Amino acid sequence: MVECLARAESSSTVLYVERIVKMAKCATCGKKTVFGHSRSFSMRATNRKFKPNLQKVTLYQDGRKVKKVLCAKCIKTLAKTA
Ligand SMILES: [Zn+2]
Repeated sequence: MVECLARAESSSTVLYVERIVKMAKCATCGKKTVFGHSRSFSMRATNRKFKPNLQKVTLYQDGRKVKKVLCAKCIKTLAKTA
């Protein structure tokens, strides 16, 4: 998906400033939103999505602070290994 952030028009050219909008995804395992059905008692199917438990975390990599979006499971694994 491409979202138009700003549009500046000069006399002859039209300039688009675009940014790629990414789906929320875990930086380590790549876990992302998946789609399925919700079932009511009458077994009627309606669309729903299953979102991963993504958290913004600050990590230290090679003595540097790095901000990453990780799922809860990956954060837990990191806490065990590091
Ligand atoms: Zn993950």
